[in-house]
Amino acid sequence: MELADLHLHTVHSDGTSTPEEVVKRAKLANLKAISITDHDAVSGINAAMAVAEELGIEVIPGVELSVTYQGKDIHILGYFINYKDKKFLDYLELFKIGRIRRVEKIIAQLNRRGLSIRVESVLAKAGFGVVGRPHIAEVLVEEGYVTSYEEAFQKYLGDQGPIFAEKYPLSPEEGIALIQSIGGVSVLAHPGCYNQDGIIPELAKKGLDGIETVPPPNFLGDPQHYTRMAQRYHLLESGGSDYHGERGGGAPIGMRAIPYNFVEKLKQRASGR
Ligand code: AMP
Ligand code: FE
Ligand code: FE
Ligand code: ZN
Repeated sequence: MELADLHLHTVHSDGTSTPEEVVKRAKLANLKAISITDHDAVSGINAAMAVAEELGIEVIPGVELSVTYQGKDIHILGYFINYKDKKFLDYLELFKIGRIRRVEKIIAQLNRRGLSIRVESVLAKAGFGVVGRPHIAEVLVEEGYVTSYEEAFQKYLGDQGPIFAEKYPLSPEEGIALIQSIGGVSVLAHPGCYNQDGIIPELAKKGLDGIETVPPPNFLGDPQHYTRMAQRYHLLESGGSDYHGERGGGAPIGMRAIPYNFVEKLKQRASGR
């Protein structure tokens, strides 16, 4: 069966592989198609497409937007987006600046707790990529304030707190509309992470096109659960590894892959926009 991995991060956000490396690894994993879905960034797509053309693998332009729903951080993937759209790039610039301001606020809170890490060290970790909590976590490990990346999230940075600061405020409706306004298809990322399935019908009402339905490797529940949710609410299906390279958080490229016919359905939806 021909397979696709539609959830991959690169150094353009919080992954550790370059777009070129991601494409090469995807080719080795025998994938027919992939999507580069960096957090609030599309700057890795051109490089990935150039290598992909040489290697004969399809790269779908993608993005993973952060939106806020009832105070929670929710991720919405966009596929087949017109990633060169000027208005969209202006939005990404706002998100990028919002993320820097947020890092400053988080670090101020950490400093008050006696964890004296510097904003500059965290920004340096992100390099030219979009900065996020993973970069803060890595500096906390390096400076010896925690013993692991996971511990940094458990003790300080995770969605359960205690440290919190908002990024650029964007509602799910706005995120979905933004993706659709540039010809894209909107998909709720890792629905199992939010501990509230009610979000799925809520977002379906707001125009969401699909959800990721492939469970993570260590998932203990019913593996068909989100496939059934997708059917129930007439949503398209997607999935992917959420690969982050050396950094924690995802799986190796090609794990949680989807059959290529899911890609065709997503493409069909996009072609109508
Ligand atoms: P941000 O984009 O700054 O909100 O950071 C979110 C990213 O942090 C996610 O995409 C994951 O890569 C990572 N992340 C969030 N929570 C955890 C966690 N509990 N353990 C490991 N990584 C996490
Ligand atoms: Fe991430
Ligand atoms: Fe995500
Ligand atoms: Zn992701």
